[in-house]
Parts: sequence; C-alpha cells; structure tokens
Amino acid sequence: MANDLHTLTIHEAADLLRSGAISSVALTEAVLERIVAVDNDVKAYLALTPEAALADAAAADATLAATDDRATLPALLGIPLAIKDVLMVEGMPTTCGSRILENFMPPYEATAVGKLRAAGAVILGKTNTDEFAMGSSTENSAYFTTHNPWDLTRVPGGSSGGSAAAVASDQCLGAFGTDTGGSVRQPASLCGVVGMKPTYGRVSRYGLVAFASSLDQIGPLAKDVTDAALLLNAVAGYDPRDSTSMNVSVPDYRAALTGDVRGLRIGVPREYFIDGMQPEVEQAVRTAIDALAALGAEVVEISLPNTEHALPVYYLVAPAEASANLARYDGVRYGLRHPDAETMWQGYTMTRGAGFGPEVKRRIMLGTYALSAGYYDAYYLKAQQVRTLLKQDFERAFERVDVIACPTSPTTAFRIGEKADDPLSMYLADVFTLSLNLAGNCGLSLPCGFDEAGLPIGLQLIGPAFGEETVLRAAHAYEQATDWHRQRPDLRAQ
Ligand code: GLN
Repeated sequence: MANDLHTLTIHEAADLLRSGAISSVALTEAVLERIVAVDNDVKAYLALTPEAALADAAAADATLAATDDRATLPALLGIPLAIKDVLMVEGMPTTCGSRILENFMPPYEATAVGKLRAAGAVILGKTNTDEFAMGSSTENSAYFTTHNPWDLTRVPGGSSGGSAAAVASDQCLGAFGTDTGGSVRQPASLCGVVGMKPTYGRVSRYGLVAFASSLDQIGPLAKDVTDAALLLNAVAGYDPRDSTSMNVSVPDYRAALTGDVRGLRIGVPREYFIDGMQPEVEQAVRTAIDALAALGAEVVEISLPNTEHALPVYYLVAPAEASANLARYDGVRYGLRHPDAETMWQGYTMTRGAGFGPEVKRRIMLGTYALSAGYYDAYYLKAQQVRTLLKQDFERAFERVDVIACPTSPTTAFRIGEKADDPLSMYLADVFTLSLNLAGNCGLSLPCGFDEAGLPIGLQLIGPAFGEETVLRAAHAYEQATDWHRQRPDLRAQ
C-alpha cells in the first residue's frame, strides 16, 4: 500500500488521513518519488519545491494529530497539489512558460493559491504551460514540451498540459490550470482526467498572470468528479481584489453529487458534431449521452446557431486583450531586460524580440492590428457584437435544457510536432470549448472512452452561468455508471 499512495484520489486520501491510516508526509513522499520515477519522461513540472512541500505536509500532520473533531478539518488538509505556472505562488518562480519571465519571483500570491493553503493543501510545484497559456499542446512552452502519459510521442493538450499530465500520471493528487478558450478542458480530455472551467467570476483571477482578461478562469484538474468538486469548493468565491469575481454564494459542490439525474434535461447541439471530427470521438460521446438517458435524463436535440463564429470571434477578442495585457513586459519593471539595449526603444524591442516566442508575437500582432484605429470597428467591435449572439444562443438553449452535452475536443491526442507549424489547425483543437469562455458560462470535461489507439476521449458537459452544481451532478452520475476514470496509463510499458 505505502508505495501506491500516489495513486489515491483526493477524497480517498482525505479519508485515510483523517482515520490516521496514512500521514501527509508519507503521501507527499510517495508523490515526490513518483515524480522522480516518471517526470523525466512526462515532463509535467517546470519547478518543484520538495522541501517546502514536505514542511507543509509535516504541518498538516501536526494539525491532524492535534485535532479531535476531524469533521472540522479543512477539506484539502495534507493533500499534494500542482499549480500551472501562470498562477503566482509565493516562494516559487512564475515563468508563464516564457523566457521573458525566466527567474521571475512573484511578490505576492494568487487568491486561489492562498485559499488552497487555507484549505490545508500541500503545494508541490509549478506545471508546464504554453507560453502565456497560448496554445493547445504545451509545444509553445519556451522550456520544453510535456508528453502525454498515455503515449509519450503525443501532446497532453494545452495550455494546462503540465497540470493534466501530472494528474494523469499520478504526480499529484489534483492540480489547477486556467481556461481562456479550453485550456483546462481540452488537456483534461486528451489526458483522460476531469477538468472544469467554472463560470466567469466564480474564481478570483487575482494573482493569475493575465492572457485575455474577459475570458480567463482558473479551474481544477482531477482524477474524478468528486475531487473536482472538492477543489472547486476550495477556490470559489468573491474576492474584493478581483472586481470581476462575483458576490454569489458558494454552494457545497460535493453535496451536489447526488447520483440522480432523473428528469434532467440534456441538450445535444447539432452544431457540435461536425465533419472532420474523429469518428471514434463522436461515437463515444453519443454512447455517453445514451448512458445518461438510461440513468433517467431526458435528451433533447438543440441548436446553437452561431457556433461557427466562435473561433473567429475568439481569435479577435483573445489576441486583442493579450496585446494589451502583454504590453507590460517592457524590460523595465520586471522580467527579462536585454543587456545590449542602449536606448529606451531598443530596450523595448530587443527585450520583447528575445523574450517572446513566435505564437505570442503572432497574437500580439493580430491583437494590435484588430484594435488599431480604422480597424477597431470592423474587427474588435464586430467580434464583441457576435460574442453577444453566442451568449444569447446559450441563454435560449438553457431555457429548454439544464445541461448541454457534446465532445470536448474533435480529436484525441495528436502527435508532438503534428500541428506545431500550422497555427490554424492548432486553433481548431478548441473549436468545441471556446464559445463557453466567450459566453461566460461553465463546463467540464470527463473521460468517456478510448479510441482504437488507446487514447482517452472526453465528454463535455456545459452549464449556464453558476450552473456548476448541475454540471457536476450529471458528470458524477455518469462517472458512477462507468469506469473510464479508473483507467490509468501504464508508463512502464512505453
Ligand atoms: N488554445 C487556445 C489558445 O491558444 C486556448 C488557450 C487557453 O485556454 N488558455 O488561445
């Protein structure tokens, strides 16, 4: 048993910690050993802080030993977690997968991370990401590419690919990522784990390095739906430091997992089953929807007529916001400063030229162009208008249904290098996920099968704004009826 502690889910480990059967130090050591054993191949972590993690674990054990009423203990006490390297964690560098922030030590900590600490979590380190979270494969990381634990020659998805791969290969019990257009759900799908994008405003973005501020949300990656609910419980809620976080009460998401979906109305949008998607994905998702129907849900065909516009709208709005957000990397205030620059302008251009990778430069140029005088009305303004139509599509649909079910990604994990030189085909990886960010509602991906090559397939369940409980309940009911979430990749066989 002792050697297998890294394979536990959060809720299993929490029970064992409370009963005194295991200690957090033993659990954290098992996870750290697992990282030593497999991360040379998977490459999920950009930075690890084992001493700090073991010290946090020892503190958690002391709290456990000193508390008689175990029910009052914080939910994540002693649980080792990993954090995507776009969230600021005290005592750890924040690079955003970029050379421009190499060696940058954050002066403060993200609210979400502070809440995890308050809930007792042990923070292991920072996981790999596409540079500034721009990408769908982690190949845009300036440091290295993360490998998919199910097939090391394939991508884990992105941009939270390091977090998804770490969860899938038991190198943490759970992790956090960020989702601007799919970056939690798509890697969750490709790595066979659960990943949730909460409603915009559900989780504070304070201390998250901004990519596209009207789209970014922090979300959990987990081994099962119960763990995702526990992780969301810990970070959700209003934060006066993020004016876009909403002052809406936080339910107990775990309590929402009743296992009962009788009468739940599930919408299946016809626009989400498209030509060119992998047939095995369509088949697995349709079978999963049938399984939900067998559990008592009512399945209804629906239409989200503006879906085809989501991708072009996203690739105007996200780069426009990115171009504004990334203006701060000027070589003056923090991060890289080019040593050879003599004038102020050289300082800007040489620092940014050397510090940003090609995808980030592409986005900055696209965004700056879309916002420039004379083009603003034609591009950015128009995109925002169509964004409203996308939001209305969902609002209309949610008058008729409680949850929408569709694929998370049109394909399973692709090969490393396969799309790296073709930005447009990379952008298509998020064709089913981006509209939620534009509309601001919530969604989750969970495992629903494997393709013929043994690669995981994800089912996406979408809810209205602040509909997380319903989404989690439907996901949990499906999960209970299947055992996809119990399958783990065999890294020794590769
Ligand atoms: N792949 C999308 C992009 O490159 C989404 C990224 C994200 O959600 N952070 O923008």
